[in-house]
Amino acid sequence: MACRPDCGACCTAPSITSAIPGMPQGKPAGVPCIQLAEDHRCRIFGQPERPAFCGGLQPSEDMCGGSREHAIRWLSELERATAPI
Ligand code: SF4
Ligand code: SF4
Repeated sequence: MACRPDCGACCTAPSITSAIPGMPQGKPAGVPCIQLAEDHRCRIFGQPERPAFCGGLQPSEDMCGGSREHAIRWLSELERATAPI
């Protein structure tokens, strides 16, 4: 499936542990990435500074579902399931 325009859920819900330009410590879960533009596009798409994590997240029915709310819920669940204890 293709990435939905105006979503940005996977640039908001997960935590990212590697450095992002403007967020050298990465980003906490639930916080929009600083590189996420207002139109929900990635400002550094295709650039080497984009974290490998981002390229690894491909759109899927499971993750993206039918709405941004679904994706936020799904990704937040995954975040909780994979958080270090
Ligand atoms: S959750 Fe899916 S639809 Fe939403 S931005 Fe990420 S890949 Fe695109
Ligand atoms: S670097 Fe780009 S793809 Fe990765 S979380 Fe930030 S906005 Fe999203």
